[in-house]
This record gives sequence, structure tokens and C-alpha cells, in this order.
Amino acid sequence: MTGAEFDVVVLGTGAAGLTAALAAAEAGATVGIFDKADAVGGTTAISGGTVWMPLNPHMPPGSDDRQAALDYLESLSLGLIDPAAAETIVDEGPTTIAWLESVTDLRFEALSGFPDYHPENPGGRTGRSLDPALFSFDELGSWASMVVTGHRNPHVRLADIPIGGGTGILSDDVRAERERTDARGCGAGLVGPLLRALLDRGIEPMLNARATDLVVPDGRVVGVEVHRFGVSETVRARQGVVLATGGFEWDADLVRAFLRGPMTSPASPPTNTGDGLRMAMRVGADLGSMSEAWWVPTLEAPEDTAFGRPRSSLLLRERTLPRSIMVNRAGRRFTNEAANYNGFGGALHVLDPNRLEYANLPCWLVFDQGFVDRYGFHATPAGGPLPDWVLRAPDPASLAALLGVPGGALRATIDRWNVQAAALQDDDFGRGRSAYDLWMGGAADARGPEATIGPLDEGPFYAVEVHSGCLGTKGGPRTDLHGRVLDTHGAVVPGLYAAGNVAAATTGRAYGGAGGTLGPIFVFGRRAGVAAALD
Ligand SMILES: Cc1cc2nc3c(=O)[nH]c(=O)nc-3n(C[C@H](O)[C@H](O)[C@H](O)COP(=O)(O)OP(=O)(O)OC[C@H]3O[C@@H](n4cnc5c(N)ncnc54)[C@H](O)[C@@H]3O)c2cc1C
Repeated sequence: MTGAEFDVVVLGTGAAGLTAALAAAEAGATVGIFDKADAVGGTTAISGGTVWMPLNPHMPPGSDDRQAALDYLESLSLGLIDPAAAETIVDEGPTTIAWLESVTDLRFEALSGFPDYHPENPGGRTGRSLDPALFSFDELGSWASMVVTGHRNPHVRLADIPIGGGTGILSDDVRAERERTDARGCGAGLVGPLLRALLDRGIEPMLNARATDLVVPDGRVVGVEVHRFGVSETVRARQGVVLATGGFEWDADLVRAFLRGPMTSPASPPTNTGDGLRMAMRVGADLGSMSEAWWVPTLEAPEDTAFGRPRSSLLLRERTLPRSIMVNRAGRRFTNEAANYNGFGGALHVLDPNRLEYANLPCWLVFDQGFVDRYGFHATPAGGPLPDWVLRAPDPASLAALLGVPGGALRATIDRWNVQAAALQDDDFGRGRSAYDLWMGGAADARGPEATIGPLDEGPFYAVEVHSGCLGTKGGPRTDLHGRVLDTHGAVVPGLYAAGNVAAATTGRAYGGAGGTLGPIFVFGRRAGVAAALD
């Protein structure tokens, strides 16, 4: 292992690790950064790359204010957010964005019109979400092929596609130019410039390097054991080790032990197995938010693969478009299908106390031929034909038989939905009442409830199973505002820092809007890097 002693050692190359490493280097530290994967970027690289930041410098002046942002986060917190952490995000978010744009080639553009996930809550706004600009991977030289990939089309920004407010259509010229310069957006548009900035400072991530244990001779973390190609070596950290190893969603034992309900379909790369959490537990870290994840309903399409295995896809737009509903094992709707994905996790965890089973698992997305003709489905363009794994039947009763749900109930559910659709009013679950439902829903030309409400009245009828997934888990070692890990007595574990999904979420249960995980990660990743450098 080259240069096995650094001021600061960072474990993980997602947003948290890259940001902490850059901040530490900017503060004058020598930095070593390690990742167990064979590519840089973790979940961050395959993410939408959207960053939620109240009061960000790309919002029109006067369109946000500090108290509104704090009120909004508090309204989502169920009393669990640390007010000091919320203030740090709101107060340092704007300068963190400005800092990123000054020390890297990362540039953000406003996703104007994109509403917060609960825009009607106190302090809710539109325009707090930021989209990374395209970044040419040509700038990375040989490192271009060493960044995690997973997007079906890497050459788009979120703003280009329907869930970001775009049309999804690029002209041939634009597409060709982006391919020529290997210009990538979304998560790659974040990771590319952050990696470039580290390389410019002489910091090369060490890949295939799995941190296995902290070195703690006298109560202070002074290094880490790193396993690489069958050999273990001690990497010394003169000032601090920053855990940035992502969540524990791929470790079945940790998931079973801690998460509050079923989570069977993680959408992140499989290298997030809770290694940092276990290392922190071993040195006595206090833990927080352990039952929580960044929940998301997912689709498991056989044609989707990544990292050499089937891949879960986020089910976002399909469940918010008109002419689709979701039903549970009873053949009934059970929630506002167009609600934001993180909140949706709550609907999938409802327990039926009589039968002691999860009331809404399994569940299915049900849609009709009118849906397919207008919107396509998943990777299938409008008009179809749909792949064989999508269940289909000429009428609701026959579809119900395929799903194993009561036929009469599914028929009645669709009939009731169609009555409500005719009135453009979902009296059962309020779908279409929030500006968020309308943004994620229908066509750009529909901005009323018709953006998400429409009948299922053109057979055949289709169904796919929807799974309880997550973008990553939220629980881990508790930290102070400088990212210093705290032990079970509330004291700092000397020399140990944590940021990102490895740590207890700084927003508690709140998910403010698109980019609600990455925004706080940038703020606290930077703080952890600076604090470690100055330790
Ligand atoms: C499809 C998808 C889309 C998303 N879109 C968005 C979005 O638009 N906006 C948003 O805010 N959030 C989004 N998220 C969530 C967001 O991507 C994550 O919350 C965020 O990237 C987590 O960053 P991180 O640095 O904590 O972890 P990661 O990015 O997961 O990085 C952790 C890294 O640590 C490495 N590692 C693990 N164990 C070890 C070890 N023992 N030694 C060394 N390295 C190790 C891993 O290999 C990985 O590279 C999305 C998630 C998914 C799955």
C-alpha cells in the first residue's frame, strides 16, 4: 500500500468521503482515501445527483428565508431532528455550495419549479433543489473508467428528463455533442468534478481497499486496517479517520436487527454493508436513527442489472402518472400513490394487528392499456410492447387471479377509482392535492389533478410487484456538529469522524426535497474533513 501514513484517512468515495477528503486537503492536511469497491463514487455516482439546499445561491433573491427553512425541517421531523444540526444545514448550506463551486469544477443549476417534498407544510418552497451541470469525463483521463456507472443514459441532467421537469427528448446534435465529450450528469456530474479536484491535489483514491478495523491503541483512533488483494496493512492517521462508508442496507443481519420494517430491495451498490457502522460500534460509538432508511418503493425488472446482479430501480414516475394505482394483498388502494418515495415507506410498513402481517406487502402497481399507450412503462416507450414479466389480463378479475388477490375487491377498487377520476378528486387518499404530486405526475401540459389522476378503463390491465426498498440507511454513529463520533457517554471518540449515510442522519426522519440526503451530506462531510485536518 503506497504511503501508509497520512494526516487524515478517509474511508469511502461517495459524496461524504470525497467532500471530507477535499475539505481536509484544503485545510492543509495530507489525505489518503480508500474504497473497497473497484470504482469511485458509491451510491452517489448512480444517484440523481440532486442536492436540496435551502437559501442556495441559485435561488432567486428573496425566495427563501432562514426561519422558513427551519420551520419546514421541523415540520417533517416528528420531533426527532436536532435543532442545532438543522441550523447548521440552513446556515452553512449556501456557503457549502459556493465552496464546492469555488474549489472544484462542479457547477449547479436551479431545478426551478421543483417543489419540496411537502410544499404545503410550514416553510415549504419550490426551487431549493439543485441539479449538477454536465461534467466532461474526458477531464478525468484514465480515471474516467474508474467511476461507478449505473445510469441507463449517463449523458442527461435531471432537468432533461420528466422527473426533473424536462421532456426526456434531446436533439441528435445535443446528444452527439455530449457523447463526444463524454459529458455526464446526475450523480456522475457530482463525482466527476470532486474526483478531479482530488486528483489535482495529488490525491488518488485507493480502490479495492476494504477498511476492516480501526487501530485504537490508547483510546484514540490512530489508523485503520486495510485489506487489499489478500493482504492486510495498517494505514496510519496522524490526525483522524473519517468514516464515509455509506449505509448498511446490504447486510442482511444489520437490516434485520435494526430497520423498523421490511426492506428487501436496496437500490444502492452492494458494497454498502455497514462496515463503518461495525467499526464504530466496536469502539463504543453511540448510535442514532438506526431504524430509519431513505425509503423508496422499487421495481425489480429482470432486464435491469448492475454490479453483476439484478438491480432495483426506483419506482417514481410510473406510480404518479394517471391511469395507474397501487393495491395491496386485499386488492385495495392503501395510500396516495403519488406521495414522495421516502414518506411512502411508512405505507409499506403498516402492520395489521389482527393478522400480525404487513397490511400492504406484497403490493402491486396496476395500470391499463391507456397508460402504456400514453407513457410506456419503465424502459418501454409509449405504445409498448411490454416485456413478458409484466403481468397482464383482459379484465380486473382475471388480473386479480394472477396476483392472488380477491377479484371482487380489485374490480371494486378500480370502479371506485374511476368514479373519483371522473371527478378528478381522490377522496380516499388525497392524491393530486399536493403540488408535489402534480410535479412528479403527468404530462407537462397538465398542471391540475389530471396530472396524476386518470381512469383505468382501457383493457388489457397490467400489474407489476412493487418492493420495499431504500436509497441507503440512515442510522449509525452519532456525531457532534463537527462530525466527531460520540461514545455512549456522549464523549468524543478521539480521532474518529463520520459523515454521510454511515452516520446517524443529521436531519433525523426529515427528507426535505429532491436532494435531501446529499445536501446535508455535503455540509457535514465538509465539516468532518476540516475538523479532522485541524484535530
Ligand atoms: C438510484 C438512486 C438515486 C438517488 N438520487 C438521489 C438524489 O438525486 N439526491 C439525493 O440527495 N440522494 C439521492 N440518493 C441517495 C444518495 O445517493 C445517498 O444518500 C448518498 O449518495 C450517500 O452518500 P455517502 O457518501 O454517504 O455513501 P456512498 O455514496 O454510498 O459511498 C459509500 C462508499 O463507501 C465504500 N465503502 C463501504 N465499505 C467500505 C470499507 N469497509 N472500506 C472502504 N470503503 C468502503 C462503498 O464502496 C462506497 O463507495 C439516491 C440513491 C439512489 C440509490
